[in-house]
Amino acid sequence: MMTVLTNLLDLDPAQLIAYCGELGEKPFRAKQLQRWIHQFGASNFDAMTDLAKSLRDKLATRAMIAAPAVISDHTSTDGTRKWLLDVGQGNAVETVFIPEENRGTLCISTQAGCAVNCRFCSTGKQGFSRNLTVSEIIGQLWMAEFELRRTKGIEAGPKGERQITNVVMMGMGEPLLNFEPTVTALKLMLDDNAYGLSRRRVTLSTSGVVPMMDKLSQECPVALAVSLHASNDPLRDGLVPLNKKHPLAELMAACRRYLEFAPRDFITFEYCMLHEVNDSDAHARELVALVQNHANPVSCKFNLIPFNPFPESGLTRSHNPRIKAFAQILIDAGIVTTIRKTRGDDIDAACGQLAGEVQDRTRVQERMEKMTEYQKKFGKNFGRIVEVSA
Ligand code: SAH
Ligand code: SF4
Repeated sequence: MMTVLTNLLDLDPAQLIAYCGELGEKPFRAKQLQRWIHQFGASNFDAMTDLAKSLRDKLATRAMIAAPAVISDHTSTDGTRKWLLDVGQGNAVETVFIPEENRGTLCISTQAGCAVNCRFCSTGKQGFSRNLTVSEIIGQLWMAEFELRRTKGIEAGPKGERQITNVVMMGMGEPLLNFEPTVTALKLMLDDNAYGLSRRRVTLSTSGVVPMMDKLSQECPVALAVSLHASNDPLRDGLVPLNKKHPLAELMAACRRYLEFAPRDFITFEYCMLHEVNDSDAHARELVALVQNHANPVSCKFNLIPFNPFPESGLTRSHNPRIKAFAQILIDAGIVTTIRKTRGDDIDAACGQLAGEVQDRTRVQERMEKMTEYQKKFGKNFGRIVEVSA
């Protein structure tokens, strides 16, 4: 008879305690085990030397520690590193590491594909395949942290220099439409016996699934980014179809409610700059009015994302002077505004380009080559995140 091995990356701290209980082990064993997994990156029970040999043997026959297999691993000239991970049945998702001076941010995926189908997003265009499991979500952080350490020759364990200091759920998929596994993964990120990240350093980005924003505020209030992209309902209906279900007034109210629980005192609004679609001065003024609504303002920052074009979208990126003028209107109204410059473009790791289909590997290769050309063109400052603050 074949035994199905339990993937321990699927278990949150409480579940791991319960699992160890089933094996007749005390809760502190679960803590030890959890530290081996999430702080030392161990995947082999034999390495867990402070666990009794009998327990290690038991685990070896019933359990495993396995993240999705790496299909490809590319490092951009700006240091951005992207992994394509196999999640089975021809589906792949992407994880992107973005090093900066004082931090390392990992951008992780929560679904293979996405059902929201925003007009400007290539993940949306590929349709929805399936939700990722807990091990597939937390496995991205597990794999990336220890792979980065191996690459740099940094020891595993709490003494080794941590590579990933921040996590953003801004890869493929809508995290709030895969709620339970996402929250379990978040809890592991925050757990002191796992990654011990503070809630401020973990950001979930949503296209505005209002009821789930409230649920998140109760279950695991991490920092929140909301993909706004439009200053009025007719415009947003056309860009983010979910807006028809949860229009702007409802979304703004949900943001205000979230702020009462949020680890930061602002919501980050993401706004993808689309040439002659949502980038006029009038749009910027309308945005100011939307968030500064006199009776009920929403405390926020804006992150303007220059659109990363892909042919099927039929859309183009706003020109830089337009983006700057747009930002200035927000800044003049007292809103902290940043312009996100694309990083990792040469390896196709920029926002909204995480298409990731295994069948499409030839195209990925092709696009990588094309992106290498871009890199040459834009030079060494290409892909830096710059602040255009007030
Ligand atoms: N589904 C979530 C999180 C993943 S998308 C959400 O929509 O918020 C992460 C961010 O990338 C979102 O703000 C999204 O709107 C943006 N994005 C998607 N496609 C893009 C593109 N082609 N160019 C620039 N940003 C894009
Ligand atoms: Fe899904 Fe976010 Fe892309 Fe919209 S922008 S299709 S919600 S991944």
